[in-house]
Amino acid sequence: MQSIIHQLTQSRRVLLTTHTHPDGDAIGSLLALGLILERMGKTIAMVDDDPIPAIYRFLPEVERILRHAPPDTDFDAAVVLDCGSLERIGAVGTTVAKVPLVINIDHHVTNKAFGAFALVDPNACATAEIVYRLIRKMGAPIDKIVATAIYTGIFTDTGSFRFSNTNLGAFTICQEMVALGVDPYQVAKHVYGTYSLGRIKLLNMALDSIELTANGKMTIMTLSQEMLRETRTQPEDGDGLINYARRIEDVRVAALIQELNSGQADQFHVSLRSDGSVDVARIAQARGGGGHAMAAGFSVTAPLADVKADLLRLAAQL
Ligand code: 5GP
Ligand code: MN
Repeated sequence: MQSIIHQLTQSRRVLLTTHTHPDGDAIGSLLALGLILERMGKTIAMVDDDPIPAIYRFLPEVERILRHAPPDTDFDAAVVLDCGSLERIGAVGTTVAKVPLVINIDHHVTNKAFGAFALVDPNACATAEIVYRLIRKMGAPIDKIVATAIYTGIFTDTGSFRFSNTNLGAFTICQEMVALGVDPYQVAKHVYGTYSLGRIKLLNMALDSIELTANGKMTIMTLSQEMLRETRTQPEDGDGLINYARRIEDVRVAALIQELNSGQADQFHVSLRSDGSVDVARIAQARGGGGHAMAAGFSVTAPLADVKADLLRLAAQL
């Protein structure tokens, strides 16, 4: 941590980025560290390849997050947050590749330790927890804006303090963030508040797609581009749907196969969730992906039938 603080202190222009299809931890970590570095007098650019999902647009200063890196800035350092591997940052990777110093800050157990400096703590409940510790170590003050970003990162990545990554830090840091002015009700209201009718219709289709394997130990949910078109929803509207498939009795692994809108056929992202008895990070890693023991994912280019056949083979071994 000390060497990363040293590097950040020395840098004048810092590029910060996170994974595509960003979640609350990705966005919260990006905003918190980016704004702190800016207040320390640095020129910063916060970039994510994908748009910010509607439920996170309430975050103060979230509009500062750009879709593309500014082309005319020579960055001294690039900070990659909440990413197990560099491939997950998408097109901003071409800019990151030109930056002389890459700093990797993450909590995924499958992190590939890329970058000149890596601060990876799989015991942290969220990347926002690591960012919080880094900010405190730097001695930088945390105001309500940064506190809201950190709180939202931890609140969402722990599934509102329900998932297995919920640790003491989740509570102590969030308590401190509330003391600094975060309104838990306001955050919860935005994160869980209202859904478009399309999202509810998509939920209906997703629930309808659930298949249970012969041994009853795996569920497979499928989301197609056609379903998104029909309900006029965005990929972000599929976030969290897999939890319904995971909560079915006796199910050890839930899989969600999502057809990607890449312009090419047969491209899918598979999300995996476990009940705790199976390490899905290993399953995802064996297929070129990664994640945590209880929540992981991978991308695959193959006909849907082959993707399902692979999952069925896995299910039979459970
Ligand atoms: P989700 O299923 O919500 O996309 O992701 C669950 C977890 O697995 C997240 O922590 C995410 O970072 C990780 N994950 C999902 N897809 C991939 C992937 O393609 N590669 C890697 N390395 N991690 C992934
Ligand atoms: Mn995270």
